[in-house]
Amino acid sequence: MTTGLDKYFEHGCGTEKKDKLCRSRGGESCAFDGAMIVLQPIADAAHIVHGPIACCGNSWEGRGTLSSKGSLHRMGFTTDMSEMDIIYGSENKLYDAILRTYESAKPKAIFVHATCVSGLIGEDIEAVCKKAETSLGIRVIPVNAPGFVGPKNLGNRIAGEVLLDYAIGTGEPPFTTDYDINLIGEYNIAGDLWLVEPVLKKAGLRILSRITGDSTFEEITYAHRAKLNVVVCSRALINTARTMERKYGIPYIEVSFFGKTEMTRALRLITSKLELKINPPRRTEFKNSVEEIIEGEEKRLEEGLTAYEQLKGKKAVLYTGGVKSWSFISALMDLGIEIVAIGTKKSSYEDEEKMKEILGENAPLIEDVTPKNLLRLLKDRNADILVAGGRNQYLAVKEGYPFVDVNQERHTAYAGYEGLINLAEQISNSIRFYASKKMQDTRCRIQDKKHQASCGMNHASSSPHIQRQDILINPLKHSQSIGAAIAFQGIDKALPIIHGAQGCTFLGKVLLTKHFREPIALASTRLFTEDVVMGSGESITNVVKGVIEKNNPDLIGILTSGLSEVKGDDVASAIKNLKFKIQDSRCQIINVATPDYEGGLETGYAKAVEAVIESIVAKNDKTLRHSGLSGIFPKKDCRQAAMTDNLYVNVLVGSHLTPADFTELREMIESFGLKPIILPDLSALDGSRQGISALSLGGTKIDEIKEMSKSEFTIAIGASMAASVKKLKDRFNIEYKALESIAGLMDTDVLMETLSMLSGKPIPQKYERQRRILIDGMRDAHFYYGSKKICTALEPDLSVQTSRWLDEMGAEVFEINVNENGLFSIEGEFDLLISNSHAEDTAKRLGVPLYQMGFPVYKVLGNNHRITIGYRGTLTLVNEVANLLSEVHK
Ligand code: SF4
Repeated sequence: MTTGLDKYFEHGCGTEKKDKLCRSRGGESCAFDGAMIVLQPIADAAHIVHGPIACCGNSWEGRGTLSSKGSLHRMGFTTDMSEMDIIYGSENKLYDAILRTYESAKPKAIFVHATCVSGLIGEDIEAVCKKAETSLGIRVIPVNAPGFVGPKNLGNRIAGEVLLDYAIGTGEPPFTTDYDINLIGEYNIAGDLWLVEPVLKKAGLRILSRITGDSTFEEITYAHRAKLNVVVCSRALINTARTMERKYGIPYIEVSFFGKTEMTRALRLITSKLELKINPPRRTEFKNSVEEIIEGEEKRLEEGLTAYEQLKGKKAVLYTGGVKSWSFISALMDLGIEIVAIGTKKSSYEDEEKMKEILGENAPLIEDVTPKNLLRLLKDRNADILVAGGRNQYLAVKEGYPFVDVNQERHTAYAGYEGLINLAEQISNSIRFYASKKMQDTRCRIQDKKHQASCGMNHASSSPHIQRQDILINPLKHSQSIGAAIAFQGIDKALPIIHGAQGCTFLGKVLLTKHFREPIALASTRLFTEDVVMGSGESITNVVKGVIEKNNPDLIGILTSGLSEVKGDDVASAIKNLKFKIQDSRCQIINVATPDYEGGLETGYAKAVEAVIESIVAKNDKTLRHSGLSGIFPKKDCRQAAMTDNLYVNVLVGSHLTPADFTELREMIESFGLKPIILPDLSALDGSRQGISALSLGGTKIDEIKEMSKSEFTIAIGASMAASVKKLKDRFNIEYKALESIAGLMDTDVLMETLSMLSGKPIPQKYERQRRILIDGMRDAHFYYGSKKICTALEPDLSVQTSRWLDEMGAEVFEINVNENGLFSIEGEFDLLISNSHAEDTAKRLGVPLYQMGFPVYKVLGNNHRITIGYRGTLTLVNEVANLLSEVHK
């Protein structure tokens, strides 16, 4: 569908270096995401993602761009294509979605983004947009950048072309001046622009059009009237500036606003270009006034930086991409920080040239930025800090290295003179924190010798208000591959690989890392256009072989995507061939069908667990570790059977428990003398993990999974585990009990009774006591729950578990089906909303507090350490929710 791609490679992509520049060397998102990055900051325009859920579900609200001109950039709109839409086409659905979006959000323009699946099946998005434009009388603009055409960088450029074709030159400004400039490629991340614009204004400059941070659609339409284009992210939108020079005669310059040196250079460069167009008498005045501003700002900056003198001489490893990769060198040098290594994987050839300009030919450029090597660099080069993107955060903090996030997910503005003070403050805070941490650790080690024990310890009903619509606005749903990827994190030395274009994996990994605050094991087969056209069996083989050689995993899960399913890849045969080729390896390779046009996070997770059971649980040996229990539960009283200790029990756990819940559950089961094999075991993500690996570390071991056929009994937690528990029963005749919930008083009672019956032991005193405390707490809190209406928008298993204890407390519960509804469609008179972090704006709109739960939770700390099951977990929930309800009461 997208043709003529060569024009996007013109600049910064010399033929001989084309691969290096335009084909990502990994660590990057897809073209779709690149186009969204450029266009979504236009906050009075809506951005409809035409595809199955993965593209929008993984990315919406994922960027730190801010706006004072609207809030549509914080919303997600998707057609959420289903299998039927793929079979019969969904152009009518898209048309209705556009109309519905207009009705709902009244945007000034609508961008419609193609994705891998809609691109592959050849949806005529252009025609639909044209038709909708005629009906609505606003611009409805197609963006043809499906993920498989290339990396983020290419998507940036396609978005620039879209603006040239559909927006720039179609409007006129109310007036113009000789000092009008456009800012191109500045996205107002964390408010960067708001630190630069006042300085430009003081210098007498006017930003006519912001492309696109903090912009309106209208101002972009008259960008062709500016006197100068100031390109901030040259890698992304240089082609836009070049075309504007050709078409409208607007010269352009490339600048960066990061750091004192670059900010001053930018001001002088802008001035020198504009002065040529100004009459001589005003020219000198203009130049002098800019110099005065620079002098004043630099003086203020020097004063502000006196508090951070201690940064001089510190050493940093820098790993970021694009213009930041060289401009942050300059900013760090302004602070007196030495750059001891620079990761170049995300940098273009031109970026590398600029790095050398600043640091000389011997600039410490490093191509290998695998976590292992980054860590080695930090150690070997005696670095004090890692300055990189958010995805590397947990690599650094896990190993005790200070870290500052400089990528688009950050929350602090670093541009302009004031931004440099912010950067110094962040670096200084991080270094200071770890310095004091090292002191604590040292103190611990010293004390340990004397006082080993004392150190380190201080430490429902359905809503009638919701209807299924053509457009899903602010989706709650997530793709199946995300769910399956979560399940694999709970298996030791496993690696899930999404078989699709690279965006799904990149965006999924960012989302999972944000939620779990841990490094996430996830790889991609990285399909590009040629793989889509020619077949992609080889991609699977190459990636899997590479992973086995390098990382030696115990388990690889190939998770299919909408793209690979629609194009009909025979993954099963590819795996068969692979097994033939890698006979020596002990690694198991399994396939999980997780297209994102069906199901959701919970079904993907459940499918992964089922596939693991199907492929790994040993088929041959059916010798139970103990005899006599299978087949008799619950008819026979097991207490009389009086099983001995160490009775093995399989425990299949749904995706709705927190990492801390897994530890709590294990403790409960073991307190009865039972031996649980928990599959998967997501306690591995509770923060205790040590070391860096491309694989998941901790969790259920493959050998334990093999032995599950020998267990006496299976407990399944969550309805989503039904198929898996049945599989164990059918294949190995293992009796089971399925529990929909293990929170709340009654449901925890059932769990305790089950464990008591299995073990033949009474419920431990500890839990009897916890039960009494819970009852007492419920009595105290019930005043706050009576007649309260609580809306829950959670994945099904969590929704059921939550609604059951809320029901016990006397609240009226309205459950939203997350797989069919978006947050935007929630309406009604509620007292509280319980949902994920995306629901913050929805709660504000409804005028109720939000209790953050489910996936993803990234706007509150401690989610992974929160116990939400059993007596004591329930008590925590009861109290926390009551506290929010009491606020409503006031
Ligand atoms: S790579 Fe994934 S996220 Fe990107 S467009 Fe394709 S399906 Fe969507």
